[in-house]
Amino acid sequence: MLTGKAAIVTGSTSGIGLAIATAYAAHGADVMLNGFGNADAIEATRARLEHEHGVRVRYSPANMAVPQDVRQMALQTVGAFGKVDIVVNNAGIQHVAPIDEQPDDRWDAVIAVNLSSAFHLVKAVLPGMKARGWGRVINVASAHGLVASPFKAPYVAAKHGLIGLSKTVAVEVAEHGITSNTICPGYVRTPLVEGQIAEQAKAHGIPVENVIRDVLLVHQARKRFVTVEEIAALALFLASDAAASITAAALAVDGGWTQH
Ligand code: NAD
Repeated sequence: MLTGKAAIVTGSTSGIGLAIATAYAAHGADVMLNGFGNADAIEATRARLEHEHGVRVRYSPANMAVPQDVRQMALQTVGAFGKVDIVVNNAGIQHVAPIDEQPDDRWDAVIAVNLSSAFHLVKAVLPGMKARGWGRVINVASAHGLVASPFKAPYVAAKHGLIGLSKTVAVEVAEHGITSNTICPGYVRTPLVEGQIAEQAKAHGIPVENVIRDVLLVHQARKRFVTVEEIAALALFLASDAAASITAAALAVDGGWTQH
């Protein structure tokens, strides 16, 4: 489905990003991995994807909070694969606290990683996409891009902003064969959410099962976590030619949460 395409998936050393990178490699795309983690484990993932799927897989340690790093990753991808056809802005962090207790540096970090990095990456790759008349920008926001929850001001603001950025890109470059869409997952049980479950259990003094049922999945009508494979399946479709007319969309994959 993606043979001959070159993709960057930010935050792909773990969770949702890794599932998207795996799906892209499995369908023939060359992939630039990115994110933090144990160097040996990242190299093992890179080599495994390359070996299993017969595509080129590279890794960029770029810090998405640093614009110069983002630009460097785009250049590295062009150096490795000759072009960038698909970008998935997926890297994300979270900080949970009441607004009046949110540390200023956490606000800046969450906005930088979850929102500004997407601007810098899109800015870097759009000229090449326009020149080739084909491109896919896929942003991983959240149900929190559509609705708010308390104690998540920087995250909710960044994810709402990411949808706004995505729509603007979409309408600006639609005539160049480039689409820009946002995926809005509900709760997915990744390391990011494991951290929140533990924090909430401690903060409320309640068991993990209660946090999952009464806090995380309270509005998720399906009453189970979304899986990384379900998010990757949509990211794969949005990257395909079949999705050429889907643009400026914010697509919820949230078990009914945002319509509850
Ligand atoms: P995760 O913690 O498993 O993965 C996050 C990835 O981002 C990792 O690869 C990490 O190394 C990378 N990353 C973090 N900071 C970075 C930085 N400064 N520079 C480069 N890479 C960085 O989390 P996940 O749950 O897979 O989250 C992926 C995306 O999905 C995030 O944007 C998150 O907000 C979003 N999301 C997650 C859920 C969920 O329930 N897990 C729900 C909605 C949206």
